[in-house]
Amino acid sequence: MNNQVLLEAPDIDSLQELFDGDFYKDIFHENSEEEYSKAIQIARECISRFLKNNKTPFSGIKPADLLSVFKTIDFNTPLENYKSLFEEIETLYVNHATAFHLPNYIAHLNCPVVIPALAAEVLISAINSSQDTYDQSAGGTFMERKLIDWTANQIGFDSNCDGIFNAGGSQSNLMGLLLARDYYSLEHLKHNIKIDGNPPESSRFRIFVSEKSHFSNLKNASLMGLGEQAVIKVKTDSQFRMNLKSLERAITNEIELGNIPIAIIGTAGTTDFGNLDPLNDLGKIANHYNLWYHIDAAYGCGLLLTDTYRHLLNGIELADSVTVDYHKSFFQPISSSAFIVRNKYHLNIIKHHADYLNPNDQDYDELPAQINKSITQSTRRFDALKLWCTLRLLGKEKLGQYTEVIIDTAKKTALFLDTQDDFELLNHSDLGALVFRYLPKNEQNYDSCAMNQYIKKTLFFTGEVLIASTKVEDKFFLKFTILNPLTTINHTKNILKKIKNHGQEYLQSI
Ligand SMILES: *Cc1c(COP(=O)(O)O)cnc(C)c1O
Repeated sequence: MNNQVLLEAPDIDSLQELFDGDFYKDIFHENSEEEYSKAIQIARECISRFLKNNKTPFSGIKPADLLSVFKTIDFNTPLENYKSLFEEIETLYVNHATAFHLPNYIAHLNCPVVIPALAAEVLISAINSSQDTYDQSAGGTFMERKLIDWTANQIGFDSNCDGIFNAGGSQSNLMGLLLARDYYSLEHLKHNIKIDGNPPESSRFRIFVSEKSHFSNLKNASLMGLGEQAVIKVKTDSQFRMNLKSLERAITNEIELGNIPIAIIGTAGTTDFGNLDPLNDLGKIANHYNLWYHIDAAYGCGLLLTDTYRHLLNGIELADSVTVDYHKSFFQPISSSAFIVRNKYHLNIIKHHADYLNPNDQDYDELPAQINKSITQSTRRFDALKLWCTLRLLGKEKLGQYTEVIIDTAKKTALFLDTQDDFELLNHSDLGALVFRYLPKNEQNYDSCAMNQYIKKTLFFTGEVLIASTKVEDKFFLKFTILNPLTTINHTKNILKKIKNHGQEYLQSI
């Protein structure tokens, strides 16, 4: 080392001075508790204003207007204090944030969240455990495992089960498809895809889903090098559940063409209609053809919580793997999702060893490592703590009661829509998703798609109520996704009234 460097290094005394002053106060550590409490308090006040001031699900602001505010932000000039920071955040974000907790928000699959989960969030980010290995998480590893076991038990799996928390349903579905592909290849072709890549036969692999299944299945097939062509979309019945005859025909047809069925993906609660495929029958067919059976219960997993409606999930225990999204149907903040397998040995297919994290010679009973089961995350948030706090404090039964209220409101809304001459309702839902359109009988010569598009857009930019839309057979439909127990039949009736008014407004304008 040359003397020059030694001379220029700051001396110990001046470092100590900085430490005693407030130079390090912004780092979360044992001497910065006051700063931490102040920051959290100011953030909390911001949330109080959010609850008090955001009285409609959306402010209605146009993207261009919101974007123009961003032009003034200069990252080279930091703000003075937390107060000015949160004031700016309110202008840019909070004042216009979509308020999922309001009963008039019934657009997408966003649930209101429960408070114990929010309290857990405070710990999750401050303590900042990483769930990949025991030496970065300790108790966190066992809490996650216990929640996986609990969920698997609700599904009906025995103690041979396993699984992992991850970012969302799309990722869990990817894991399901990956195991299906690699398992088939190992079992039937004696080919290890993890090491050797897709075999030549893989261009003929076929996966069967309903035409109403989630689009992540298509994306996942293409990510895995099978291409979207590998996904066979099976017709649904009048209630948008996979049609069994069509499935069997599709399977035999693919076999006749020389293709290789590897998996059936059943949807327990479709994103658009909230209806469940016939899970039991799909399980029998999967068994008959020796196919991997994955169930996407991202939405329908909430039925695990209720005794009244649990029977709708009968057959889920036949699955080889299951996707559950706690952030859809367990009132959890994003992200909270899990991938569960019936047979823990199947997860060995994806195990990778990194010498610095989970070396090959490690005894995993002595030193567990959840990273063995994760495909796309190494460093991983302790999201499981939110569900832990929720179940320990509120219990399954209370969550189940919330779920039942939601289903009842959807049922009442569907029955009401059935009585309305100027609405066309496409489905009754097992969960809370209703697809319909305004279609006044007495009016003629109007474009129903354009009218319903107008209704959706007008509602959005007034921000008063938020609903979703979808296309069925190329026609534009409106959609309610009821996930909030605070939404009542009076709310949905009132929203339908607004829809009608905007529809009339449209008809008068043409
Ligand atoms: C939302 C949804 C998904 C995707 O889950 P993310 O958590 O958004 O990734 C998958 N399947 C179904 C049926 C869904 O509704």
